[in-house]
Amino acid sequence: YQAKRDRTGVEVYESKRDSNTPDRLGLLGDLRRALDAGDVELHYQPKVRFDGEVAGLEALVRWVHPERGKVPPDEFIAIAESSGLMPHLTEYVLESALAQVARWRSQGLNVPVAVNVSPRDVHTPGFAGAVAARLARHGVPAGALQLEITEHVLLEDPQRAADTLAGLTGHGVKMSLDDFGTGYSSLVHLRRLPVSELKIDRSFVARLAVDTEDAEIVRCTVDLAHSLGLLVVAEGVEDDETWERLRDLGCDAVQGWLVAAAMPPSETTAWLRARGEGATHRPVDPAPGPA
Ligand code: C2E
Ligand code: MG
Ligand code: MG
Ligand code: MG
Repeated sequence: YQAKRDRTGVEVYESKRDSNTPDRLGLLGDLRRALDAGDVELHYQPKVRFDGEVAGLEALVRWVHPERGKVPPDEFIAIAESSGLMPHLTEYVLESALAQVARWRSQGLNVPVAVNVSPRDVHTPGFAGAVAARLARHGVPAGALQLEITEHVLLEDPQRAADTLAGLTGHGVKMSLDDFGTGYSSLVHLRRLPVSELKIDRSFVARLAVDTEDAEIVRCTVDLAHSLGLLVVAEGVEDDETWERLRDLGCDAVQGWLVAAAMPPSETTAWLRARGEGATHRPVDPAPGPA
């Protein structure tokens, strides 16, 4: 494998993506052991409305390999997907996120958390029931959990996926459609998927302020989503100008480094408290960007 250093000086693992190299298999074994040992962590990135109110947090998985350093989620999620480890990873993430939600709730911080789930999960028999059981075990109301899915869930067995998603929403879990614009972005998908939120992919958001076509795509997506009664979240907002444009286009909430990157739990707690968030959902700080 090749290793390079990221901005913080920590080694970042990079591999050739698409082969079952011994390297990949080694990484798979290491990931399985890391999950068993509890060495995989979740960080949390806020979703914030334009009035500054925190709409929720997204759990993002983080793995620091003992020798290789940080392994990007895209890398090991692909490995987990293609190897059958995905259900185990998702159980781990759900377990860890729900334990954290319960902890926050006991401290008076009632902020909903979104967990990314893969198409594999949605096609696992009994997934909806397992999620409901896990919520009950942690004493967390279903409304405090959101699951982020992508259109890829409809590729394999659309009916099975639709049934699972109906089961989840039936239990009161909210669904969010992630990375919108990068898949097939079919209107049929939007109609078939029982989602209450749509996340515009970072690739359209990044150049929004300078690319008029991207701006038009975002405008149309926001309007379409609103006409279907969905909330719209923009991913990857890094600067004030983009923030302003999204506000003017009627987007509901943003996520991005401008507001906060994904943070470890303790830092997230401090961040929420500093904003006076949680029990009251009262905006304290002015929203990032111009007043
Ligand atoms: P995603 O769900 O679309 O998450 C957004 C990604 O964008 C995250 O990368 C986040 O750290 C990054 N990001 C957030 N704000 C900014 C910004 O302002 N600028 C830029 N350039 N990037 C930003 P991350 O954490 O590396 O995760 C990558 C992908 O891995 C996620 O994309 C998601 O598809 C997947 N993933 C992460 N955690 C999990 C998990 O627990 N389970 C599953 N199934 N997938 C996960
Ligand atoms: Mg996501
Ligand atoms: Mg996304
Ligand atoms: Mg994305």
